[in-house]
Amino acid sequence: VPALKVQGLSKVYDNGFQALKGIDLSVEQGDFFALLGPNGAGKSTTLGILSGLVQKSAGKAEVMGFDVNEQSFGARLNLGVVPQEFNFNQFEKVEDIVVTQAGYFGLNAKEARESAEYLLRALDLWDKRDEPSRMLSGGMKRRLMIARALVHKPKVLILDEPTAGVDIELRRSMWAFMKELNESGTTIILTTHYLEEAEQLCRNIAIINRGEIVRCTSVRSLLANM
Ligand code: ADP
Ligand code: ADP
Repeated sequence: VPALKVQGLSKVYDNGFQALKGIDLSVEQGDFFALLGPNGAGKSTTLGILSGLVQKSAGKAEVMGFDVNEQSFGARLNLGVVPQEFNFNQFEKVEDIVVTQAGYFGLNAKEARESAEYLLRALDLWDKRDEPSRMLSGGMKRRLMIARALVHKPKVLILDEPTAGVDIELRRSMWAFMKELNESGTTIILTTHYLEEAEQLCRNIAIINRGEIVRCTSVRSLLANM
């Protein structure tokens, strides 16, 4: 099965605005995929639906063959989600945030601690493990979002503008982390409005504009034709 599959996906928000106009997408397992487009194109809406955070209006959205709209635990187990906005408890300690998340996915206490330690070390947050999350810099909070999303070892990772507003040094280290994760078998799909980010990281790309996919191609052939 594809890691992600979307067919005829539409979204009309409550105010009547149609953010997605029946898009089709398929992302193979192991891919590193970018959804590229200008602000307002429908990128967050697409990832929001795949993440189960936004209700679709019509069409189909699947993660590893599991429909995302049927409260399916299968879809959630296979998925890690890094939204744009920080949404953790600012008084909770860094390590506890990651360990608590593991509990939602049925990891036992030992597995949860081990997975949290591994990720906090890999993301250079281990020294901050006893700090409440509000003490972290913006860049550290971004890395904490990624650690939390990966604690249950999902097969697919979705990131919405992972490096927006991040300085170049941190961006490069996040790129390196994501590359390594992808090389070890995790399928990654991210949104970006930086062509450079897609170029550095991704194999395949869909360009979205005004709720429609205008192009779907490999990054290599996109660059060759520019
Ligand atoms: P992108 O991530 O590409 O910037 P979004 O998916 O966030 O785009 O938004 C697509 C369009 O839908 C935009 O025009 C945005 O203003 C609109 N939109 C997003 N969320 C809502 C909402 N809750 N209600 C109404 N319109 C929305
Ligand atoms: P922000 O995005 O909020 O400015 P970053 O994590 O991107 O924070 O940090 C910017 C720079 O400052 C990075 O080079 C980082 O290594 C350094 N930095 C940030 N916080 C700390 C800290 N608590 N201790 C040491 N260096 C820090």
